[in-house]
Amino acid sequence: MLSLGIRHRLLVSHLFAVVVLAGAFGAFVYYTAAQQVIERLHVQQTGSVALIAQSLDPAMLDAAASDATVHRALVAHLQAAAHNNSDIDRVYVIRRVAGADRVLASSDGDSAQAARDSAQSGATALAAVAGDHGYFAGIEMHGSEVREKLYILRLSAALAFLVCVLAALVLSRHLAGRFLARIGDLAARCRALANGEPLPPRRPGPRDELDDLAHEFDAMAGRLRHAAQGREQAHAALREANERLESRVLSRTAELEGATVKLRNEIESRVHVEALLAEAALTDSLTGLLNRRAMMEMLGQGAAQLEPGEPGLSVIVADIDYFKRVNDVHGHAVGDQVLAAVANRLRESCGGAQQHNVARWGGEEFLILLPGVRLAAACKRAEQLRRDVAALRIGADALHVSLSLGVAELMAGEALDVCLRRCDQALYRAKDAGRDTVVAAQGALFATMS
Ligand code: GH3
Ligand code: MG
Ligand code: MG
Repeated sequence: MLSLGIRHRLLVSHLFAVVVLAGAFGAFVYYTAAQQVIERLHVQQTGSVALIAQSLDPAMLDAAASDATVHRALVAHLQAAAHNNSDIDRVYVIRRVAGADRVLASSDGDSAQAARDSAQSGATALAAVAGDHGYFAGIEMHGSEVREKLYILRLSAALAFLVCVLAALVLSRHLAGRFLARIGDLAARCRALANGEPLPPRRPGPRDELDDLAHEFDAMAGRLRHAAQGREQAHAALREANERLESRVLSRTAELEGATVKLRNEIESRVHVEALLAEAALTDSLTGLLNRRAMMEMLGQGAAQLEPGEPGLSVIVADIDYFKRVNDVHGHAVGDQVLAAVANRLRESCGGAQQHNVARWGGEEFLILLPGVRLAAACKRAEQLRRDVAALRIGADALHVSLSLGVAELMAGEALDVCLRRCDQALYRAKDAGRDTVVAAQGALFATMS
């Protein structure tokens, strides 16, 4: 479908109005004017021919038919009549007999031509000459003059039409220009609104629909700006709330991280304390050796792992001789010092702190576990321990103590208690033997080794 802009629509509508309305009106005016011209000519012709008919004498006309002199006088009379009226081209006289016209005389002298023209031309008029002789006076107007008048009329109509068309063009152009300027104004304001720029000032114009539209647009722009401001404020509030939330999240995260670190430290310290407690539960605080409970555990495990035929485990119970005297003579603190020194010596002799095979078994009593060691080898180790401790010089007073040691081997299938009891008996035997000695127990037999 053909799409036309406002300028072309206005042009088309104006041209249509001019062509249809002005054309119809012009045609009507032209037709009316032409009719009036023809009518006026007709009246003029009728009047002129009536006057000429009155000036003619029927007797003269009768005579002119037969007398050449009268005929010439008649022609002269007709010529004078034609000459008197500039609109008349020719004057002639005809006689109508039995419906047929015969030209009697003509102002231009050519009767035959006059007869033809009177028959053909519409621009002629006839008037009966007085009397009952069938004479008629006829005139013929200047055809060119009539044509000229009609031509001028047509030309005027054409010019008027052209002027109308031009006026339509100018008017449509002018109107389109005014419309387009105001529509362009409105479009510029729409663009400014869309781009968030200030609205350009409105051009003054007549109060019409476009003006109403511009007013409505301004009201709408105001509402939109108000809404945009509201949205902007809401966005700003939302941004602020987000920032606040973010900072709160950050501070809470930092708090949580701090709490996590604190908790981790606490857990670590608790684990440490628990490890210390566990260690304390298994070790003797004065000597750092395993305590009796821990050693009982190890003995139980060692006994459970014993396989028949394989080397068993041996135990040595060592007791410091006359220790009470040390306390009595040097004081309890020195007694403790002696206990720690002896324990340290035993630990070193048994392979260091990692071995965990030496325990404080009672007050000044120690138990050494020897897994996979037969009785004979255990006795040798016991003898070595005895010597090591005997060689110790403790504290500022260089105290020295001795050990009595009992040695026993746990036999396969034997209860641990039985073995320990036998070992104790061996220790008693060592005490009985004068102390600072090693006694081995094998079954019900005891042997002093040193
Ligand atoms: P024996 O040669 O027969 O073994 O005589 P002894 O004096 O060593 O044995 P007794 O059983 O008569 O005395 C042991 C003493 O050990 C008694 C006790 O006061 C002392 N004792 C036990 N435990 C500790 C301790 O942890 N520190 C100190 N300083 N002395 C202790
Ligand atoms: Mg003792
Ligand atoms: Mg004792």
